[in-house]
Amino acid sequence: MERRPLGKTGVEVSVLGFGAAPLGQEYGALDEVEGIQAVRHAIERGIDFFDTAPYYGRTQSEERLGRALTGRRDEVFLATKCCRYGKRDFDFSAERVARSIDESLARLRTEYVDLFQVHDVEFGDHRQIVAETLPALRAVQASGKARFIGITGLPVHMLRLLAEEFPVDTVLSYTHYDLLVRDLDDVLAPLARETGVGLINASALHMGVLTDAGPPPWHPAPAEVLEVGRAISQLCRERGRSVVAVALRFSLDHPDVATTLVGMQTVTEVDQNLAVLATASDPALLAEIDALVAPVLNRTWHEGRPANAPPVS
Ligand code: NAD
Repeated sequence: MERRPLGKTGVEVSVLGFGAAPLGQEYGALDEVEGIQAVRHAIERGIDFFDTAPYYGRTQSEERLGRALTGRRDEVFLATKCCRYGKRDFDFSAERVARSIDESLARLRTEYVDLFQVHDVEFGDHRQIVAETLPALRAVQASGKARFIGITGLPVHMLRLLAEEFPVDTVLSYTHYDLLVRDLDDVLAPLARETGVGLINASALHMGVLTDAGPPPWHPAPAEVLEVGRAISQLCRERGRSVVAVALRFSLDHPDVATTLVGMQTVTEVDQNLAVLATASDPALLAEIDALVAPVLNRTWHEGRPANAPPVS
């Protein structure tokens, strides 16, 4: 397993990370036994970065991951989050952060997490996050309940501004570096190079768009982007390639990203995604994909407070 340094933390993590949102059945029904087998198989095959949150399955992902990690805790780098608890249920207060870590530790059946992150910063007030939320996470770190702290979210510009104002150990960005949207490369990769913050790229499959099964019904991408996603899948099929393998290879190739997170539900998906590590990208196919993507490149959606919306370019 190739491993890369997670910024300046002094820790190396597997280049392929296990996203545990599907364990909370965010991508449809998932039998607990099957999900736990996927986690344990991933550990055996060398994946050591695991990312979860109280929000995924409204605590179910953490509960299941905690059971899956029984006896294996020391073999993984475990990341969870705070401040988001439902689709519209957020609390960025210091008091909630302090309670949240204890709740997560109980569900995860551990004494500490390796990484504690503010979940979806775009739903918070920028000033509160800097003045209250992140200092509360540092206090959790000082207590020994978390080794490192970070921020996560959708708008890359806000992640960058926050990380510049309040130096964190990691920044997790999702759906902003894959075949369809690539502006992590313009905004967060330079930050990682300048400051040494650990960069985590989540949702390399654009939350299921870049799979043969296609996205879940709740997917927020504009219709024309979903259409291009279908065209990419079709093209890959015609070329005898798996769209998942092509998409994952593309994201893994970013040199400034420490780990690329993919949500995995089954042992088969774990094995398929691990197999991609031994492959190389196909420049001719990527050129064909680029031509399909060009009309919608970097077209995304917005979430969170209007004040946190990206600047109009
Ligand atoms: P993803 O792009 O990784 O896609 C997940 C979907 O792809 C699931 O349906 C999964 O079953 C499917 N899949 C995975 N491997 C496959 C394979 N080999 N063949 C066919 N289908 C396959 O989306 P995601 O799970 O949302 O993102 C990855 C992880 O990143 C999450 O689980 C979560 O841990 C993290 N994340 C964090 C945030 C945040 O903090 N704000 C946001 C998004 C994602």
